[in-house]
Amino acid sequence: CGIVGYVGPRPVQQLLLAALARLEYRGYDSAGISILSEAGVESVRAVGNLSALRDAVAQRAPAAVADGGAPVAVADAACGIGHTRWATHGRVSERNAHPHVDTSGRIHVVVNGIVENYVSLTRALCDDGARFSSETDAEVIAHAIARRYDGDLPAAVRAAYGELVGHFAFVAMAADEPGVLVGARRECPLVVGRGDGEQFVASAMPAFLERTRRVQFVEDGELVVLRPGGVEFMSPAGEPIEREVVEIDWDA
Ligand code: GLU
Repeated sequence: CGIVGYVGPRPVQQLLLAALARLEYRGYDSAGISILSEAGVESVRAVGNLSALRDAVAQRAPAAVADGGAPVAVADAACGIGHTRWATHGRVSERNAHPHVDTSGRIHVVVNGIVENYVSLTRALCDDGARFSSETDAEVIAHAIARRYDGDLPAAVRAAYGELVGHFAFVAMAADEPGVLVGARRECPLVVGRGDGEQFVASAMPAFLERTRRVQFVEDGELVVLRPGGVEFMSPAGEPIEREVVEIDWDA
């Protein structure tokens, strides 16, 4: 129902939670975030409202340290994605909350909307060795990208995008590529917020208007690659697209 993504130097966890709070008006049944830092990808998901997610995040951080694992390196995180879910396929549960991840744990996605051909895609990916951990239509996107992934997330997303039927917008993140997010849309909204050394992407502007009012609209059927230093728009074939930056001077 709502998606957000951030690449940049600021504490990602608080930033994503604040951005999701700005999308609360859209309504949702569960929420989650995944953060990529030097320590790897940390995912937290919870059924219910954002305070349930905040509680889950708070409980998670000390546990990671207590277990002898690396502490959650919030300050030096490279990027992160977040989601508020309005379930369409698969009941409301923590397992079905986004972000979703592929079998290898490398590709993480948040998805709005519906992947109509998920049954046939899931079957093909399972025959290829994928193991699904949710009942959603959305998880198939993580596996479809992972199947095409050889270290180049934009290329893998482009390849997977062509296999997907439906109306959706998603943002993907690869554990091996810190500081890169790839977004794509088909009939569902996606908008980019341009910062100085940091970039935002979301399903709606209020998610980031507090941080930047310089906005680029992703048009239908386009992909977008975000890195802290800049944003590239492209067609599914990989042709670069020029997109103007719009200054928003009204309150969204
Ligand atoms: N179809 C997806 C699901 O049920 C995404 C729903 C949404 O847009 O929140 O998980």
